[in-house]
Amino acid sequence: MNPTLEIFSQGEEIVTGQTVDTNAAWLSQQAVELGFAVTRHTAVGDKLDDLVSLLKEIAWRADCCFCTGGLGPTSDDLTAAAVAKAFDIPLVFDDIAFAQIQQFFINRKRMMPESNRKQAMLPQGAERLDNDVGTAPGFAVQHQRCWFVFLPGVPSEMRSIFLDKIKPTLNQRFLLQPSTLVSIKTFGIGESDIQQRIDKIDIPADVQLGFRASLNEVQTKLLFPADYPYANSTALVTKITETLGDKVFAVDGLGEVTGDLVYAVDQLMRAGKYTLALVETASQGLMAGLCTGSEWLLETRYEHSLERLAQKLAIAVTQDDLLETAKVIALTTQETSGADFILVQLYSGDFQVLQDKDKLMVLHTVLLVGNQCYPASQSVAGLIKRKQNQAALLALDLLRRYLQRISSDALAGYSVIL
Ligand code: ATP
Ligand code: MG
Repeated sequence: MNPTLEIFSQGEEIVTGQTVDTNAAWLSQQAVELGFAVTRHTAVGDKLDDLVSLLKEIAWRADCCFCTGGLGPTSDDLTAAAVAKAFDIPLVFDDIAFAQIQQFFINRKRMMPESNRKQAMLPQGAERLDNDVGTAPGFAVQHQRCWFVFLPGVPSEMRSIFLDKIKPTLNQRFLLQPSTLVSIKTFGIGESDIQQRIDKIDIPADVQLGFRASLNEVQTKLLFPADYPYANSTALVTKITETLGDKVFAVDGLGEVTGDLVYAVDQLMRAGKYTLALVETASQGLMAGLCTGSEWLLETRYEHSLERLAQKLAIAVTQDDLLETAKVIALTTQETSGADFILVQLYSGDFQVLQDKDKLMVLHTVLLVGNQCYPASQSVAGLIKRKQNQAALLALDLLRRYLQRISSDALAGYSVIL
């Protein structure tokens, strides 16, 4: 059994939604990676009695608790007082903590307000966690079953203390067997579609399956218990990636460091020492923007509509066969740029189609490689920002699928049909 851990965030601003609780999310990810079973997140406002009762509950319920916030000098910072009351431990003045707080102000050539003295009052017997980047020291106490770690609310301070002072000690305190989290990253397929496709695959009960969807990718997550045989986990991951085919652009958690779709394109372009020229309409420069800083991007052009593009290029166009038009533009761009790959993105209709959220935009993208042309047509709905984002990513994804197909390393496990 993995030791259980709860995370508890303190502050009125968290419960009222003015501050998003990123501390809990970050600490949770750390804890899961380390091998804790994270059982609960709680947020409590600045009310002493609520804090006291929660601390008492957690003390018998969990093996470990990470708490953030409420360590500051102001009257709404109640953590130390709540610990004292809940666990019946007096607060004592810590000379070293006070000297550090004073030094913080001396270093910044500022007078220390009298209220900062309060931050040097720590529960008797607590382990002080020095704060090298702010004023409030954290502290840790064991009470009943639970080891409590109290950290500042400011995310940078919290992370710094956690990484330097807590993380390295956890293995001595707890028997931690980290589980393995594998994320299969896909683009161009929704989570329900993924679920349906992998329904046929037998996923053992001790492997946790989950999905995380955003505009730019969908992640299919598999959490394998610590003792799960490596060969079995890789076999299952391979089966799923094969089922999802070329929608998969990266797999995290099997040793390789991966990033988003743009990162995948960048890695493949660098590996093959290829060059790219692009012509975009719907995404109005966003595609070029996503590739900023890439030496492989040779030429970019954008106009917000086909009409404007045709004027600039002095070509006659009709809306009849946009894939053919895109091909003509790609051939012209190939001549002027000399790039290995040309991406041209057009959309049916006029600028209104892009602007109007109620109009469906039909995109026509071609990738030209030598004299081979790979077309793709897709529909995108929604607000202009969404249409532009999807238009840029769909074009880059066409390139990514081609690159993955020709890259021998990436070939294993993917069946790519453009
Ligand atoms: P301080 O000395 O700054 O008062 P503190 O430990 O008392 O430190 P809080 O007063 O609770 O921390 O929070 C300080 C700031 O840190 C908040 O204004 C907020 O911006 C940020 N913060 C606090 N809690 C969280 C959280 N759970 N997630 C993200 N940010 C947080
Ligand atoms: Mg505070």
